[in-house]
Amino acid sequence: NSDLRQQVRQRLQEQGIEFILAQFVDIHGAPKVKQVPVNCFEGLIDEGAGFAGGAVWGLGQGPESHDLMARTDLATYCRLPWRPNVAIASCDLYVDDEPWPYCARNNLKRMMGIFAAEGYALNGGFEPEHFLVMRRPDGGLMPWDPQGIDKLAKPCYDFKGMCQAMDYLQDIIRYGNQMGFDIYQSDHEDANGQYEINFGWSDALTSADRLTLFRMMAGQVATKYGAICTFMAKPFQNRTGSGAHLHFHVADVLNRRNLFPLKKGEKDRKGLGISKTAVHYVGGLLKHIRAITAVASPTVNCYRRIQSGEFVYSTASGYTWTPAYASYGDNNRTQLFRCPDSNRFEDRSPSGMVNPYLLLATHMAAGLDGIKNEIDPGEAILRENVWNLSHEERRKRGMILLPQNLMEAIEALEEDEVVKSGLGPIADEYIRLKKAEWSEFMRQVTPWEVSRYLTML
Ligand code: GLU
Ligand code: MG
Ligand code: MG
Repeated sequence: NSDLRQQVRQRLQEQGIEFILAQFVDIHGAPKVKQVPVNCFEGLIDEGAGFAGGAVWGLGQGPESHDLMARTDLATYCRLPWRPNVAIASCDLYVDDEPWPYCARNNLKRMMGIFAAEGYALNGGFEPEHFLVMRRPDGGLMPWDPQGIDKLAKPCYDFKGMCQAMDYLQDIIRYGNQMGFDIYQSDHEDANGQYEINFGWSDALTSADRLTLFRMMAGQVATKYGAICTFMAKPFQNRTGSGAHLHFHVADVLNRRNLFPLKKGEKDRKGLGISKTAVHYVGGLLKHIRAITAVASPTVNCYRRIQSGEFVYSTASGYTWTPAYASYGDNNRTQLFRCPDSNRFEDRSPSGMVNPYLLLATHMAAGLDGIKNEIDPGEAILRENVWNLSHEERRKRGMILLPQNLMEAIEALEEDEVVKSGLGPIADEYIRLKKAEWSEFMRQVTPWEVSRYLTML
């Protein structure tokens, strides 16, 4: 550790870093920082930057609480490519010298420890989708469209759509890669002004740090182009929403071997070429999916995105490409847990708004329950469009509908001890805050209600 400290100190000096951002996230995954002159580097590691935790959402602190100390993780120091005199470091939160259990990053490390003690490590990579938007003269929102090509009827992978954001995308890919994200693809997505970036794989903690830092970067770079970058799950009702799919596998924590493909001689139970470990891991995820949804789709608006993926004429492509039913199966995008090949699964449910630290912790808690209790996910859906099945057919196969609003998901979380255990004390704080968010929303009278009911009787 003192070696690493020495290396980082030297790197900061060589790069001409003048300031360090000590960063952590609140319960929603929103980044919080203090800017610290580089000469205070040692103190940031040993003492940390002090915060009033009660001023931040969901940290289990009040105005009377002792200081929350954000101590930088030496392994995460990196220079901000768009502000080269500034470095950023992810922090772990401490109170009175003890790791603070309400810190989402600490909690993820705790769950990784529990998972590792059973012999496992979760690896993966996120695929954040997001929109660039701008204000219309009347104050409303529209997709960022400097070249006026808004009329794309089927914009997925569109050349013009990509080109008008090419400089922005090149900036964020270049910067992301300078920060070690291993970005390997980007495209124009299925809605006008929507883009997707695919990251390289890493351990769970690094993946969560990466998604957080990516959002910070994309937001800042977008402003340079006069655009607003949003990860809101469904900013436009007639366009597809933004997901943050998670590709993942479980590895042996000691030798790092991927445990998902079939072992030699092992029988292929589900026709996907996956091992018993993979089958049960997904079994656990599916068993707890309603509670996990409270974390994967954390806002009122997220539930506009996970309405059933049936054909909707109003969206650009006809489909929303979003899972609404709890299914797993082969390489087709109507599944919730898609198995593109036997090395990995894709969880298609997380929304762009997900707090990755919390999601990965709940994944491990649910998956471990699956492995330990050999939970059977039932038959895999092979070569079928899940969205086109009839309701009876879905029910017969045990495919449940995901919660259709935030309150339903929060109630599922409240009843799920396994998923709550993955969140530690954050669970109760989360439930309390989300119920408040829901009741605030339920007091709104929307234009839709007025137009529908005003003169109905
Ligand atoms: N935008 C879709 C979602 O909300 C996903 C599209 C895709 O498969 O990349 O999850
Ligand atoms: Mg996509
Ligand atoms: Mg995907």
